[in-house]
Amino acid sequence: MKFQGQVLKMSTINDTPIQYYMNFSNDLINMNQLIGKKLKLTLIGYQCVNCGNDERLYRMGFCKNCFFESPYASDTIIRPELSTAHLGIAERDLQVEQEIQLVPHVVYLAYTGDVKVGVTRFNQLPTRWIDQGATFALPIAKTTNRYEAGMIEVALKEHLPDKTNYKKMLQDDFEDDLDLADFRNKIEQYFPEEFKNFYSMEGEVSRLDYPYEAPANINVFTLDKNPEFEGTLAGIKGQYLYFEGGNFINMRSHEGYVVELETL
Ligand SMILES: [Zn+2]
Repeated sequence: MKFQGQVLKMSTINDTPIQYYMNFSNDLINMNQLIGKKLKLTLIGYQCVNCGNDERLYRMGFCKNCFFESPYASDTIIRPELSTAHLGIAERDLQVEQEIQLVPHVVYLAYTGDVKVGVTRFNQLPTRWIDQGATFALPIAKTTNRYEAGMIEVALKEHLPDKTNYKKMLQDDFEDDLDLADFRNKIEQYFPEEFKNFYSMEGEVSRLDYPYEAPANINVFTLDKNPEFEGTLAGIKGQYLYFEGGNFINMRSHEGYVVELETL
């Protein structure tokens, strides 16, 4: 089998275990069924996720121009607390920003090697947790817009990390009795006074089940440095494909790459 196209991050279905689909231009390939098989990944080129430009990508799947112009790559995508759509103030394109920001958001705790705090749109759960490789996750607040969730996150990240350490996530060490509800109860006091009404104890802990067992060594490669890679697929966690020998590729960081996947 051979597939070729522009890749986006893998699509997922939260099952036991999670089902992963490589996302090519027109094809979704179930990757779970390829575990144990020898695969070849070849870099063909680039295609900006916004304009289709084939120059080398700048960041997040965007060419340089789109990264600095597109409302889908604006600062508030990374830093929700800078959101201004709720004030009617445009950053790059008010209509797009209203669609992204003026919808319910969730502040959550997730275990990705450390207990971290994160923010996402309500309809992005549990996709966001799976993409980050969280083993456990718990919503702790539901807000009416992105700004409120961002302000809560800013206050909580004084006390918890907000970034995932990918090596710790891939090492996959966790204690079965890790209790996110206990973290939630302890962190309530750090909610900003004006957003305390969004704090919620109603959420339940989700446990995510990946087709994955951690190897002793973890080495991440990219198709830029290694444009033709061959290996036997051994597992999948977060957005990482794991190949025998401890070789990992982060498919999310290859969004916009044009890739050929061949089963050998
Ligand atoms: Zn572009």
